[in-house]
Amino acid sequence: MSKQYDVIIIGAGHNGLVCATYLAKTGRSVLMVEANKQVGGAAITREFSPGYSVSACAHLLHLFHPQIVSDLSLTNHGLKLAATDLHTIALAADGDHLTLTRNSVNGNGLSASDRTAYSEFQNKLRRFARIMQKTFMVRPPRLVHKNMTDLMNLAKLGLSVRMLGRDDMRELLRIGAINIFDVLQEDFQSELLKGVMGFDAVLGSNLGPRSPNTILTYLYRLTGQLHSNGSAISVPSGGMGAVTSSLRAAAEAAGVEIRTDMPVKQVLLDVDTVTGIETNSGEQINSAIVVSNADPKTTFLKLVGARNIETGFVRRIDNIRMQGKAAKLHLALDGKPKFKGVDENQLGHRIVIAPSLTYVERAFDHSKYGEYSNHPAMEISIPTIHDDSLAPTGKHVLSAIIQYAPYDLRAGWESQRESFKQLIVDKLAEYAPGIKDQISASELMVPPDIEKEFNIHGGHWHHGEYTLDQFMMLRPVPGAAQYATPVNGLYLCGAGSHPGGGVMGLAGRNASIEILLREKVA
Ligand SMILES: Cc1cc2nc3c(=O)[nH]c(=O)nc-3n(C[C@H](O)[C@H](O)[C@H](O)COP(=O)(O)OP(=O)(O)OC[C@H]3O[C@@H](n4cnc5c(N)ncnc54)[C@H](O)[C@@H]3O)c2cc1C
Repeated sequence: MSKQYDVIIIGAGHNGLVCATYLAKTGRSVLMVEANKQVGGAAITREFSPGYSVSACAHLLHLFHPQIVSDLSLTNHGLKLAATDLHTIALAADGDHLTLTRNSVNGNGLSASDRTAYSEFQNKLRRFARIMQKTFMVRPPRLVHKNMTDLMNLAKLGLSVRMLGRDDMRELLRIGAINIFDVLQEDFQSELLKGVMGFDAVLGSNLGPRSPNTILTYLYRLTGQLHSNGSAISVPSGGMGAVTSSLRAAAEAAGVEIRTDMPVKQVLLDVDTVTGIETNSGEQINSAIVVSNADPKTTFLKLVGARNIETGFVRRIDNIRMQGKAAKLHLALDGKPKFKGVDENQLGHRIVIAPSLTYVERAFDHSKYGEYSNHPAMEISIPTIHDDSLAPTGKHVLSAIIQYAPYDLRAGWESQRESFKQLIVDKLAEYAPGIKDQISASELMVPPDIEKEFNIHGGHWHHGEYTLDQFMMLRPVPGAAQYATPVNGLYLCGAGSHPGGGVMGLAGRNASIEILLREKVA
């Protein structure tokens, strides 16, 4: 046994780094143990071809909470944004794209009623999203326990809904139970506009626009706009890795010890109480508090071990739905790609291929049966438009999230990865005809690759599907929804916990508050 720490954090994803720093700032000794060589989890920058670097998983910042930036002085620790307030460009095959901002949508042929409906719709859904957002900074209340804080949080939630007023309250109840497809059909005419809005509701999920829960996921996305009072989408200077480098610097300044390239094999227990961890190399390190930034399945089924937990709880963990459906494509380009109708000033914005709701739904249909989408939807970022540190002078990188790529491809990814990559490039070429001749290197990561590289079970964006049955006091499962778990001294701090995934940092922050509340560390 080596040195004893007050807290050990398994995994140095952005949430782990946030949690560690808040704890260390209170004088606790904190050790972080990360499996990979680099900190950051799914928010890193890495070279994918000599001279070309990219945000290897998450690529656009749209949820990161400003409270964390200020509490941890991340700007002083090197956080810089290369571009902020990005628009969304919804591509059309004929080049007549739409440009969406927080409150407006513009484009040739768009009707006046669609323009008005867009701003009304966004305003209405932001009112609903604000209720969700208010719950993000507090632990989800438990329903059955008579804890004062929980009762207060529950009462505040009820009051926020009540304060919406009769019409909004009725509308929230009505649309919350249906799906984004039906709701958008009610209000909009333009297929392209509906397509891109529907895409925003399903990005990163195992849902199609017709699936229930897609209002919830759309609201979740909108909360990012509320944090920032702006369109919220930004590109960090140096890629996503720069965000987590600044978090690392803040953590180390607060005294956190970080050890990388050190996978944890198991959480050590004395019956039902944590005593420390054991790494793959056999080293055992003591601590009465262990916090896991790993996803819930990895934490309980692999690191704690199903035999050490009550059967009913194991079953709940086993049943968490977390099959990744998003793939990531990286292209090294010899020059700026030319998308039909998109001028140079627009190229640095967020570009989406989702020409209609039916297009996105059909793309999803394939994935339900273990096939990749023949006509995938995608979110494209060309970060080198804003940041020349990622590629040689005059060259560019294109980063795209592709839906849908099922984790369990029936034909097997080994034989199909190349043909799927080709199909995606063909789809891109429909909108950017010269792009194929500009590609000098490429990389496609499908969910099993994401699982392997980032140690996320199923390669899932949120460490667990973001749906009502895995939401708030049910996230990741009842019994572990307040960051504490049935194992004494073991806590969760990752995206699988409330309020969920995306590079936001609040799960890590909230977990630190809960740990300080529950544990009196000397
Ligand atoms: C394809 C894709 C694209 C995405 N794009 C975006 C985007 O553009 N914007 C956005 O906001 N979000 C995006 N996301 C979601 C976002 O990346 C994640 O929700 C977020 O990074 C989760 O952060 P985390 O800190 O909770 O966990 P993670 O980033 O997963 O970090 C967990 C850490 O724990 C470590 N770990 C696990 N097991 C062990 C072990 N046994 N021992 C030691 N360490 C261990 C891992 O190596 C990892 O470093 C995307 C996700 C995917 C899959």
